[in-house]
Amino acid sequence: MNKHNYILGPCAAETQQQVVETANELEAGLGKDFVFRAGVWKPRTHPDSFQGVGAEALSWLMQIQQERGISCATEVATAEHTRLCMEAGLHYIWIGARTVTSPFLVQQIADTIAQSPYRKQLKGVFVKNPVSADLQLWIGAIERVRKAGVEHIAAIHRGFTPTPDSQSEYRNAPIWSIPIELRRLYPTLPIIADPSHMGGRRELLPLIAQQAADLAFDGLMLECHPTPKEALSDHSQQLTPKQLIGLLQQLHWHEQREADHTLLFLRQQIDETDKQLWQLLLRRMQIAKQIGEHKQQQNLPVLQSSRYEEILQKRLQWAEQNGISTDTVKQMMELIHEESVRVQIKK
Ligand code: PEP
Ligand code: MN
Repeated sequence: MNKHNYILGPCAAETQQQVVETANELEAGLGKDFVFRAGVWKPRTHPDSFQGVGAEALSWLMQIQQERGISCATEVATAEHTRLCMEAGLHYIWIGARTVTSPFLVQQIADTIAQSPYRKQLKGVFVKNPVSADLQLWIGAIERVRKAGVEHIAAIHRGFTPTPDSQSEYRNAPIWSIPIELRRLYPTLPIIADPSHMGGRRELLPLIAQQAADLAFDGLMLECHPTPKEALSDHSQQLTPKQLIGLLQQLHWHEQREADHTLLFLRQQIDETDKQLWQLLLRRMQIAKQIGEHKQQQNLPVLQSSRYEEILQKRLQWAEQNGISTDTVKQMMELIHEESVRVQIKK
């Protein structure tokens, strides 16, 4: 099995006893090979919600780190949080999803790291995705931290705020294509998944964690609490430390190996099919062009909505009959239609 990075612990550090108890149980099941997480300052939507204990909780984490040799991590949202963590000698910090949406704040955090006399003690920075599905904003934050001289950076995919019309059962649904694109652009950047904040509900965590392992993520961030139902934040998504250890034991990580003969054979068939798809697509475009010329001769408009609607409905029916996502097919047809319109209008 490959080595994976686990960042585990409560959503928030609530009391010293809760922090110690959680760390004890995790250590009993996993040894010291994980990063212990706990929010010291909590970015809450409403001012009446629990905002985190603040700097005092940082000293509880430092005790875990110094006395047990378990590296700890917390979220920083301001230059002041960053300064306090660096001064204390905390090994890891992360920038949360809300903060990543603000380039000014991220820059202030990056500048604080760059200028800190304690920066050598910092082992790494995790950058969560922004709340909206904006890869460039995520990359911008990663680059700001990189330019501050931080060598070890990991990206954390924690899902995106649902739109009002989305019917997802997730709190922040993952959009896997976004971290996959990030991996293509930054092949050596570790990418970690945060099923707790994606799912928002305990029951969903094993499935999401396995999906992340299947997609070759480099690790997981997961929340746990000695008495999850009484947690002061994110109570529906936290597991007990024992349940969390059980989840990790059930997980199946895959090996990264050279492709074997079967895989090479199947990939050849994919290449062959793509070639045919490409030829068909080209042919479709040529026909669209001929249609465009014909419409012009006959003085007909390029866009004929009823015909497009007929095409779309028929293709969606095919998708449904074959168990393929209608959303995906709709997006595909929209792109193809857009290109057909583009080749038909005057340039
Ligand atoms: C957290 O990790 O507890 C947290 C607040 O996460 P996010 O920034 O992903 O909402
Ligand atoms: Mn949380």
